[in-house]
Amino acid sequence: MKGKLFVISGPSGVGKGTLVKLLLQEDSSLALSVSCTTRAPREGEVNGKHYFFLTREEFLKRINEGGFLEYDEHFGNYYGTPKAFVKEQLENKSVILEIDVAGALQVKENYRDAEGIVLIMVVPPDMQTLRQRLVGRGSESAEELEKRLERVRFEIAQKNRYDYVVINDGLEDAKRALQNIILQETFRGDKV
Ligand code: ADP
Ligand code: 5GP
Repeated sequence: MKGKLFVISGPSGVGKGTLVKLLLQEDSSLALSVSCTTRAPREGEVNGKHYFFLTREEFLKRINEGGFLEYDEHFGNYYGTPKAFVKEQLENKSVILEIDVAGALQVKENYRDAEGIVLIMVVPPDMQTLRQRLVGRGSESAEELEKRLERVRFEIAQKNRYDYVVINDGLEDAKRALQNIILQETFRGDKV
């Protein structure tokens, strides 16, 4: 069976990574898309698992060949979703793309199989909780944290362009809501 493409996005720190990890652990029929990047690998990062690491020349060549479902530049490096990799995974699994809101909207525009793509936005219960989660994760400097929070208003304002919105208040409830959406969309249109 050809799988579906589930795009899970939402503001930084909302819990996308945590939720996606749980979904993949509990459902072997799901695969995660691995992005390409021109940034250098961090310690412990494995080529083909965390990212496909490309040179700038290789990346630009792939852009010209139309090899990305979407791509963007962050902090001076390119990042993109490789079309061929996603297509290959979709032959026997449903695929999750965990990308930011701008990337998700680009994918929706570029993906030809409109029936096969489902856009899900994860939102926080409120801004204070989001801030606390970002601070608690401790992975950004104070300046970087403010930059990320500034983007949140724009990102959440795009929610009407999504098929589903899931509130990540309790982790267990949010995970179940995502699993229900995936189940429902996977079998949509199938005869029983
Ligand atoms: P994202 O991938 O969207 O940037 P993360 O998955 O890294 O976000 O989550 C940000 C932080 O919030 C992490 O420290 C994570 O453990 C925590 N977190 C995620 N979901 C919840 C939740 N429902 N309740 C409490 N903490 C959460
Ligand atoms: P990092 O270098 O910390 O791994 O990622 C930096 C930023 O790039 C993050 O905001 C991350 O969401 C974004 N990113 C990672 N992969 C992709 C991708 O395939 N496409 C886009 N548009 N952004 C990505």
